[in-house]
Amino acid sequence: PYKLGPHISNWDEQRAMWLQKHPRMAKTSRGRDRILLVTGSQPKPCDNPAGDHLLLKSLKNKMDYCRLHDMEIFYNMAHLDQEMAGFWAKLPLLRKLMLQHPEVEWIWWMDSDAMFTDMLFELPIDKYKDHNMVLHGFDEMVYKMKSWVGLNTGSFLLRNCQWSLDLLDAWAPMGPKGVVRVEAGKQLTATLTGRPEFEADDQSALIFLLVTQARLWASKVFLENQYYLHGYWVILVERYEEMMQKNKPGTGDDRWPFVTHFVGCKPCGSYGDYSVERCLKQMERAFNFGDNQILEHYGFQHRTLETYKVRRIRNDTSNPLGLRQLPAIITKSDRIA
Ligand code: UDP
Ligand code: MN
Repeated sequence: PYKLGPHISNWDEQRAMWLQKHPRMAKTSRGRDRILLVTGSQPKPCDNPAGDHLLLKSLKNKMDYCRLHDMEIFYNMAHLDQEMAGFWAKLPLLRKLMLQHPEVEWIWWMDSDAMFTDMLFELPIDKYKDHNMVLHGFDEMVYKMKSWVGLNTGSFLLRNCQWSLDLLDAWAPMGPKGVVRVEAGKQLTATLTGRPEFEADDQSALIFLLVTQARLWASKVFLENQYYLHGYWVILVERYEEMMQKNKPGTGDDRWPFVTHFVGCKPCGSYGDYSVERCLKQMERAFNFGDNQILEHYGFQHRTLETYKVRRIRNDTSNPLGLRQLPAIITKSDRIA
């Protein structure tokens, strides 16, 4: 069957040795485990130019979050493996990044059609110290109901360790495009609840693994639902104004969703489950909702969530740092006078 690369069986030892040699690389400047946010999009321009504009906004959104939360970002546009094109492209990429970045403890994959809508919320990373993978999902829906939407692979954390390399190896064989992916799709539809007939996707394949080989994988996978590590846009976007009235950012949950993910919208491609106009409008709103938390810092807000136009919310001051006593500074022009 298909393989992602040469077999590695002692990655934990290799990585530990490397970290021993490079002790200063192990933590960020703030003393935390390194998290690398990874996202990407197709190598070619979108069919619709509005799609490219949205990809830019979505990248800005992620850059803003990473800057605020001590994380680095990697944007991939290459197809590292022709066989694993499309939504499977993340698998070879994640493996490459793990092996090339032993300093990184967690890799956080995020789809290009997902945006941070709570810029304040921070991952409760200590909660996952005994796990190697974290996704938004529900145990019941995955393990009992075998629902194909029991978890979502649009935003998830993967620890840089041997277990994760093994998982990628077990996950990948349904991915190669063509006959393999089509036939695997039939098996997935037959096994999982509610799955329509289509070629194998990475989300269904992961659920299939968890259901059929629970003994091997389940104990290290944390299905999170206390906050929206992934949030389905349809149940969130109409409520943004209400949230702004009633709540404050920082909770990441129903009061102020952490991530809004536009599942089923294909703003860059040509076909999707929802109308292009509805998707574009709501993606713009989600971006502005998150962007308000960035602009606020600089004294601006979007006039409404529907527009890129902004308004001032504070007047400028000659004492921007709010110091009690201003230092006496003699400027060049003062001296000349
Ligand atoms: N993607 C990529 N390269 C490609 C095609 C897709 O990196 O050539 C990524 C992109 O970030 C996209 C993700 O794969 O968001 C998953 O696809 P999509 O969001 O369309 O799937 P959905 O979440 O709607 O099921
Ligand atoms: Mn997506």
